[in-house]
Amino acid sequence: MPGRELAEKVSGLYGEIYYSDLGPFDPLAYVSALYEVASSFSADIAVFPCTGKGRVLAGLFSAKNSRSTATDVYRVESKKNSLVVRRLVYGGKAEASLELNLPATLCLLQGSYAEAEANLASRINKVSKQNQSCRVEFIPKKVEGIEPDKAEVVVVGGRGIRTKEDLKMIIELAGILKGAWSVTRPLAVDEGWSETWIGITGLTVSPKLYIGIGVSGQPHHMMGARSSKIVVAINSDRNAPIFEECDYGIVGDLYVVVPEMIKRLKNVK
Ligand SMILES: Cc1cc2nc3c(=O)[nH]c(=O)nc-3n(C[C@H](O)[C@H](O)[C@H](O)COP(=O)(O)OP(=O)(O)OC[C@H]3O[C@@H](n4cnc5c(N)ncnc54)[C@H](O)[C@@H]3O)c2cc1C
Repeated sequence: MPGRELAEKVSGLYGEIYYSDLGPFDPLAYVSALYEVASSFSADIAVFPCTGKGRVLAGLFSAKNSRSTATDVYRVESKKNSLVVRRLVYGGKAEASLELNLPATLCLLQGSYAEAEANLASRINKVSKQNQSCRVEFIPKKVEGIEPDKAEVVVVGGRGIRTKEDLKMIIELAGILKGAWSVTRPLAVDEGWSETWIGITGLTVSPKLYIGIGVSGQPHHMMGARSSKIVVAINSDRNAPIFEECDYGIVGDLYVVVPEMIKRLKNVK
C-alpha cells in the first residue's frame, strides 16, 4: 500500500504520522528515514514490531543512536529516567525483567498491547526520499484463504496429523469457523505441507480463538500463539505441555474429535 494511503488509513489511531514511499525493503534507507524523523524531536522511546523486518530496523536504529534496546517485550513500565520491561527469553521458556536507560528502543511482541485509543491525527507528514543503498525484495508467501496473522480464528495442525490428506480436516474446520489454518514448524518445514507455520521462527498470531490439534505445545511454537484470547487444545496425551497453557482442553484422538466437531458445527449452522 502506498505510504500516503496507509498513513490516511491509520490516521484515526495516532497523534501524528510520518510516511515515506521508499519502495522495496532496504534496511539502511528505511533506518535513515526513521532517523530523520527521530532527529526532528527528541523521542525517548522508539517502538518496533517484533517481526523479522522490525528486529532488523530496531537493531540498526539503536546502533545509529547508541540506544539501549530490548526485543520480545510484552510489558513496559515507565520510571523517571528509565523503563522496566518484561521480555521472553530462551525461546519463551523464561521471562526476564530489564531496566533500560532512556532513550530506548523496544521490539514489542504482537498482540501485547491493544490498539491505541482513537484520536484523530493532527498532521500527516512526508519524510524525504532516502538513497537506496541496496535492494532487498521480499516475495510474500502464497497463502490460501485468510492469512493466519489477520484471522480471528486460527486452527493449527501438529505432528499428530499423520498425512497431508488428513490436513484437509484442519482446513475444513477452519473454513467452518471462518478462520485461517496453519501448522507447526515440522509440518511446514520438514514435510512441506504448508507455506506458513506458527511460532518463534514463523508467524505470530493473536486471534480471538486458537485451536491446536495434535500440537504438543513446545515453547518455540507457543511463543507465536501466546497472545491468543482463548486457546483450545486437542491432544491424545493428557501430559502434553499445551494443556498447561490452554483455556479448554480435550484429551482424545483427533481423528475422532475433529470429525465430530465438524459434524456438530455444520448442524449448528
Ligand atoms: C530453534 C528452533 C526454533 C523452532 N521454531 C519453531 C516454530 O517457530 N514453530 C514451531 O511450531 N516449532 C518450532 N520449533 C520446533 C518445536 O520446538 C517443536 O519441535 C514443534 O513445535 C513440535 O511440533 P508438534 O507439536 O507438531 O509435534 P510434536 O511435539 O511431535 O507433538 C505432536 C503431538 O501430537 C499428539 N498426537 C499424536 N497423535 C495424536 C492423535 N491421534 N490425536 C491427538 N493428538 C495426537 C501427541 O501427543 C503430541 O503431543 C523450533 C525448534 C527449534 C530448535
